[in-house]
Amino acid sequence: MTTIIIGAGMAGLTCARHLADVGEDVIVLDKGRGLGGRLATRRTDHGSFDHGAQYVTARDPGFTAYLERAGAATLAAPWEQLGVDRTWWVGSPGMSKLVAPLAEGLDIRKSCHVRSVQRAGQRWSVACDGGETLEADRLAVAIPAPQAATLLTGVTPLADGLDGVGYAPCWTLMLSLAEPLEQAPRVYRASDGPCAWIACDATKPGRAGDGENWVIQAGPGWSETHLEEPAASVGRLLHDAFESWAGALPEIKASQVHRWRYARVLKALETPCLWDGETGIGLAGDWCLGPRVEAAFMSGRALAERMMDDQRR
Ligand SMILES: Cc1cc2nc3c(=O)[nH]c(=O)nc-3n(C[C@H](O)[C@H](O)[C@H](O)COP(=O)(O)OP(=O)(O)OC[C@H]3O[C@@H](n4cnc5c(N)ncnc54)[C@H](O)[C@@H]3O)c2cc1C
Repeated sequence: MTTIIIGAGMAGLTCARHLADVGEDVIVLDKGRGLGGRLATRRTDHGSFDHGAQYVTARDPGFTAYLERAGAATLAAPWEQLGVDRTWWVGSPGMSKLVAPLAEGLDIRKSCHVRSVQRAGQRWSVACDGGETLEADRLAVAIPAPQAATLLTGVTPLADGLDGVGYAPCWTLMLSLAEPLEQAPRVYRASDGPCAWIACDATKPGRAGDGENWVIQAGPGWSETHLEEPAASVGRLLHDAFESWAGALPEIKASQVHRWRYARVLKALETPCLWDGETGIGLAGDWCLGPRVEAAFMSGRALAERMMDDQRR
């Protein structure tokens, strides 16, 4: 039994790992050049930036155990913070490393953008950019709900409920500074506005060599208001807001802006995953359970369990 999994974020890789661990053949496809999806690390000539998810927390015992194993393998570490009720975990030396233990030994095809899927007899056929077509007995789609809807509308009735899912966008500014910001706090949070999250990545464990790299993330309302504006002008607004917060900035060695159209889930489906045993297609992602990496982990695991249950029958 072969399964194709579209999406190498936390949900897709968790699903793939569970299937591979019981001896299933899995092929994971991702349009990106790296793994982890929104667990993202941007590597530049001036060190790395965590420009997607900032840290993860765990309530689920399985996810807690996973993070502890990743910690033992030096791919994750607690980020010590005062006054938080749960440990903040980060990937080490970047957030994308949090998926590295899941990916080990899997057949993963990067830079493979899936453009269409269709039923081909009793199997699934998946067509990627560049003309490559793959077939499998089962298909797992672990990408943001709006992108899944584009791919699957008219292909499976599972796509019908996806328009109930809502996301907030997030504009992110990455700045590499020549000198430390002596007076500013190293981590700052607010509910919205241009500076809803500010952090110096160097304060996270495992990033000492990266220098004075700051990540500034706008809140959901602010990002929505400026969603379709050019990246350069949004970058200027975020820079100015950061400077008002921090005081005069030292020389900027490098600056990049990134728009996350589907950053955080605002309205989840509130079901762990979607699965159609008749045709062997399933969906998973944070959007099933909520706006956190842990939700993506739980959803990917739930989909693998549904697949394995069906197979045992
Ligand atoms: C700016 C930002 C800050 C965040 N902060 C936090 C935080 O602090 N803590 C927290 O817990 N969570 C945070 N999150 C949310 C967290 O990142 C997500 O909940 C989680 O990573 C989602 O995992 P996923 O596997 O469901 O989806 P994704 O990570 O989005 O993975 C989906 C994958 O599918 C691929 N893909 C999409 N379409 C196709 C296609 N057609 N063909 C092939 N591949 C495709 C993508 O390239 C991607 O790799 C944040 C997110 C963002 C963007």
